[in-house]
Amino acid sequence: MSDPELRYKTLLQKLQERGSRLTSHRLALLHLLAASEGHPNAAQLFEKLRAQFPTVSLATIYKTLALLKEEGEVLEIDLHNDSRYDGNKPYPHPHLVCNRCGQIFDGDEVACFQAADQEIEARYHFQVARSQLLFYGTCKECLEKNP
Ligand SMILES: [Zn+2]
Ligand SMILES: [Zn+2]
Repeated sequence: MSDPELRYKTLLQKLQERGSRLTSHRLALLHLLAASEGHPNAAQLFEKLRAQFPTVSLATIYKTLALLKEEGEVLEIDLHNDSRYDGNKPYPHPHLVCNRCGQIFDGDEVACFQAADQEIEARYHFQVARSQLLFYGTCKECLEKNP
Protein backbone atom coordinates (compact mmCIF):
# COMPACT_ATOMS: atom_id res chain seq x y z
CA MET A 1 0.00 0.00 0.00
CA SER A 2 1.14 3.54 -0.69
CA ASP A 3 2.34 5.94 1.96
CA PRO A 4 -0.84 7.47 3.45
CA GLU A 5 0.78 10.88 3.98
CA LEU A 6 1.93 11.09 0.36
CA ARG A 7 -1.39 9.85 -0.88
CA TYR A 8 -3.17 12.46 1.23
CA LYS A 9 -1.05 15.20 -0.31
CA THR A 10 -1.87 14.00 -3.82
CA LEU A 11 -5.60 13.99 -3.09
CA LEU A 12 -5.40 17.39 -1.44
CA GLN A 13 -3.50 18.85 -4.38
CA LYS A 14 -6.16 17.63 -6.82
CA LEU A 15 -8.91 19.35 -4.87
CA GLN A 16 -6.82 22.50 -4.51
CA GLU A 17 -6.19 22.62 -8.24
CA ARG A 18 -9.91 22.44 -8.86
CA GLY A 19 -10.51 25.26 -6.43
CA SER A 20 -12.76 23.07 -4.31
CA ARG A 21 -13.69 24.22 -0.86
CA LEU A 22 -11.45 22.52 1.66
CA THR A 23 -13.59 22.13 4.74
CA SER A 24 -12.38 20.24 7.78
CA HIS A 25 -14.84 17.45 6.87
CA ARG A 26 -13.37 17.15 3.41
CA LEU A 27 -9.81 17.08 4.70
CA ALA A 28 -10.72 14.40 7.21
CA LEU A 29 -12.27 12.32 4.45
CA LEU A 30 -9.08 12.64 2.40
CA HIS A 31 -7.08 11.42 5.37
CA LEU A 32 -9.43 8.50 5.77
CA LEU A 33 -9.25 7.55 2.10
CA ALA A 34 -5.51 7.90 2.02
CA ALA A 35 -5.17 5.50 4.93
CA SER A 36 -7.91 3.08 3.90
CA GLU A 37 -6.73 -0.35 2.95
CA GLY A 38 -10.01 -1.85 1.89
CA HIS A 39 -12.86 -0.78 -0.31
CA PRO A 40 -15.22 1.09 1.97
CA ASN A 41 -18.63 2.29 0.86
CA ALA A 42 -19.89 5.80 1.52
CA ALA A 43 -21.86 4.73 4.60
CA GLN A 44 -18.77 3.20 6.19
CA LEU A 45 -16.72 6.31 5.51
CA PHE A 46 -19.56 8.37 6.96
CA GLU A 47 -19.71 6.31 10.15
CA LYS A 48 -15.97 6.63 10.69
CA LEU A 49 -15.97 10.37 10.13
CA ARG A 50 -18.99 10.91 12.31
CA ALA A 51 -17.12 9.62 15.32
CA GLN A 52 -14.81 12.61 14.96
CA PHE A 53 -17.13 15.11 13.30
CA PRO A 54 -20.69 14.64 14.52
CA THR A 55 -22.05 17.20 12.03
CA VAL A 56 -20.58 15.68 8.89
CA SER A 57 -23.18 14.83 6.24
CA LEU A 58 -23.44 11.87 3.94
CA ALA A 59 -23.90 14.34 1.06
CA THR A 60 -20.43 15.76 1.73
CA ILE A 61 -18.99 12.28 1.46
CA TYR A 62 -20.75 11.61 -1.83
CA LYS A 63 -19.82 15.00 -3.28
CA THR A 64 -16.17 14.65 -2.36
CA LEU A 65 -16.01 11.10 -3.69
CA ALA A 66 -17.59 12.30 -6.96
CA LEU A 67 -14.96 15.04 -7.30
CA LEU A 68 -12.14 12.64 -6.65
CA LYS A 69 -13.63 10.20 -9.10
CA GLU A 70 -13.70 12.90 -11.78
CA GLU A 71 -10.05 13.55 -11.04
CA GLY A 72 -9.29 9.86 -11.42
CA GLU A 73 -8.17 9.65 -7.80
CA VAL A 74 -10.64 7.11 -6.49
CA LEU A 75 -11.85 4.05 -8.26
CA GLU A 76 -15.56 3.36 -7.86
CA ILE A 77 -16.62 -0.24 -7.85
CA ASP A 78 -20.32 -0.69 -8.60
CA LEU A 79 -21.88 -3.63 -6.87
CA HIS A 80 -25.57 -4.26 -7.48
CA ASN A 81 -26.87 -2.09 -4.72
CA ASP A 82 -23.88 -0.20 -3.45
CA SER A 83 -20.65 1.42 -4.51
CA ARG A 84 -17.29 0.86 -2.90
CA TYR A 85 -14.33 3.15 -3.27
CA ASP A 86 -10.67 2.41 -3.65
CA GLY A 87 -8.79 5.52 -2.60
CA ASN A 88 -5.35 4.05 -2.93
CA LYS A 89 -5.40 2.36 -6.29
CA PRO A 90 -7.38 4.69 -8.52
CA TYR A 91 -6.35 2.93 -11.72
CA PRO A 92 -8.66 0.23 -13.09
CA HIS A 93 -7.99 -3.16 -11.58
CA PRO A 94 -9.96 -6.37 -11.08
CA HIS A 95 -11.72 -7.05 -7.80
CA LEU A 96 -12.47 -10.33 -6.12
CA VAL A 97 -15.72 -10.27 -4.17
CA CYS A 98 -16.26 -12.96 -1.54
CA ASN A 99 -19.85 -14.20 -1.48
CA ARG A 100 -19.51 -15.45 2.08
CA CYS A 101 -17.80 -12.68 4.04
CA GLY A 102 -18.38 -9.79 1.64
CA GLN A 103 -14.74 -8.74 1.61
CA ILE A 104 -13.35 -7.26 -1.58
CA PHE A 105 -9.81 -8.08 -2.58
CA ASP A 106 -7.58 -6.39 -5.14
CA GLY A 107 -6.58 -8.34 -8.20
CA ASP A 108 -4.27 -5.58 -9.34
CA GLU A 109 -1.30 -7.82 -9.97
CA VAL A 110 -3.07 -9.52 -12.85
CA ALA A 111 -1.52 -7.99 -15.95
CA CYS A 112 -3.97 -9.02 -18.68
CA PHE A 113 -6.64 -6.54 -17.56
CA GLN A 114 -4.97 -3.43 -19.00
CA ALA A 115 -4.32 -5.25 -22.24
CA ALA A 116 -8.06 -5.98 -22.50
CA ASP A 117 -8.92 -2.26 -22.49
CA GLN A 118 -6.43 -1.65 -25.26
CA GLU A 119 -7.70 -4.56 -27.30
CA ILE A 120 -11.30 -3.36 -26.99
CA GLU A 121 -10.31 0.10 -28.15
CA ALA A 122 -8.37 -1.24 -31.11
CA ARG A 123 -10.83 -3.93 -32.16
CA TYR A 124 -14.14 -2.10 -31.74
CA HIS A 125 -13.03 1.53 -32.00
CA PHE A 126 -14.71 2.01 -28.68
CA GLN A 127 -13.10 4.57 -26.44
CA VAL A 128 -13.07 3.10 -22.96
CA ALA A 129 -13.72 5.65 -20.24
CA ARG A 130 -13.82 3.19 -17.41
CA SER A 131 -14.08 -0.51 -16.97
CA GLN A 132 -14.45 -2.91 -14.14
CA LEU A 133 -13.91 -6.55 -13.75
CA LEU A 134 -15.45 -8.36 -10.81
CA PHE A 135 -14.97 -11.95 -9.80
CA TYR A 136 -17.46 -13.43 -7.37
CA GLY A 137 -16.55 -16.45 -5.33
CA THR A 138 -15.12 -17.60 -2.04
CA CYS A 139 -11.98 -16.10 -0.54
CA LYS A 140 -9.02 -18.03 0.84
CA GLU A 141 -9.94 -17.30 4.47
CA CYS A 142 -13.51 -18.52 4.07
CA LEU A 143 -12.35 -21.61 2.19
CA GLU A 144 -9.97 -22.45 5.02
CA LYS A 145 -12.75 -22.14 7.58
CA ASN A 146 -15.23 -24.16 5.57
CA PRO A 147 -14.10 -25.68 2.28
ZN1 LIG B 1 -14.53 -14.56 2.47
ZN1 LIG C 1 -9.10 -2.14 -5.29
